[in-house]
Amino acid sequence: MHSLRNRLLEAQQGGVAIGHFNVSDLVLLKATFTAARELNVPVLIGLSEGEREFVGTRQIAGFVRSLREEFDFPIFLNADHTHSLAKGIEAAKAGFDSIVFDLSALPIEENVRQTKQAVEALKAINPSMLVEGEIGDIGTGSEIHESSPDLSKGLSTPEEAKQFVESTRVDILAPAVGNMHGMLRSMVQGETKKRLDIERIAGIKRAARVFLTLHGGSGTDDEDLRKAIAAGINIVHINTELRVAWRHGLEHGLAKQPDEVVPYKILPSVVDSVKQVVGSRLQLFNGRHVGHGA
Ligand SMILES: [Zn+2]
Repeated sequence: MHSLRNRLLEAQQGGVAIGHFNVSDLVLLKATFTAARELNVPVLIGLSEGEREFVGTRQIAGFVRSLREEFDFPIFLNADHTHSLAKGIEAAKAGFDSIVFDLSALPIEENVRQTKQAVEALKAINPSMLVEGEIGDIGTGSEIHESSPDLSKGLSTPEEAKQFVESTRVDILAPAVGNMHGMLRSMVQGETKKRLDIERIAGIKRAARVFLTLHGGSGTDDEDLRKAIAAGINIVHINTELRVAWRHGLEHGLAKQPDEVVPYKILPSVVDSVKQVVGSRLQLFNGRHVGHGA
């Protein structure tokens, strides 16, 4: 059977990363699955609490499981940014492969205490579920921001990462290394890029010795992403780029067929638009040559 832990170990040995893409409808799921299947690389589907509320926690789990089984394909499901144990338990019971237990807004001692409890409670439900913990400040909201928040004081250090991982026993750590949720308008227009602190990533990897996730990957410089993966990042999250592509694809589909009312004749424009971004990002994360797109 496909296991996320094994796929992460393989990716780590191969010097590549697994792409994590957020979905909140069937179109995003279809686009992501199709892109991953065409490239034949494992893929992680993520839904935050808000996205799960819209789609249905058990419903998305059923959908992803059916794709994995029917196509014998390594597609996995992550409960992204979960802020309470109750929501985590709901995802564990539904069969999610991993969870991002995010109490990074709390003081670090409280984050450690509650994350440790969550690791124990979630592993009691499903011992193979991977639990990710969060430290530092990477902002909130996978959307378009007008101005850049000052996140410089919330950067993670190797010492803090080591201590957090040892105290909580998380499988995966999400550090703050120059990354940020959402995109600035100038990033959507391609005028500016996010830059990462590669030395910090390498230091955290050496100290923490667990899988590392990069959140807020949208709008990041391609070369920085390659270096971050070489320095120890195992999972890269992309959400805002997909949301931008989703909207553009929908606008294009509606404009192209102004009188059409059949959803499955309008929505392929959205699938194509999102699929192009996912495909381009997956090629980069998997060390393949990146052609056109995103
Ligand atoms: Zn995130």
